[in-house]
Amino acid sequence: MKAVILACKKIRDEVRVGCLNCFKALSEKTGKFDADVEIVAWTSCGGCPGIPIARLKLIKEMLNSEGRDFDAVFLAGCILMAKENFCPMDLDELEKKITETFDVEVIIGTHP
Ligand code: SF4
Repeated sequence: MKAVILACKKIRDEVRVGCLNCFKALSEKTGKFDADVEIVAWTSCGGCPGIPIARLKLIKEMLNSEGRDFDAVFLAGCILMAKENFCPMDLDELEKKITETFDVEVIIGTHP
């Protein structure tokens, strides 16, 4: 599986400190990351109120220009945490839109 991780821009911050749990899970192959996952890109929603489809379109264009692509999108744990607190995005709708737009699998969550 070649996957893109979609993270919450507010939580991950500019130096990616909010991504440490995902890096750990990737390294240890725990959580939703099994041995077959290759992360080909890592992006954010773009900031509130969220423009994830536009971000993923850009990622796809850039990957395609290098002869690469993705077949799965992880909605990172930080997005789930954001949703419990302040995130305005409808995650069910986002999952549906990603699937329809890119014909890829959407995996909810990342690290344990
Ligand atoms: S709270 Fe939601 S819309 Fe705002 S930055 Fe985080 S994931 Fe994006």
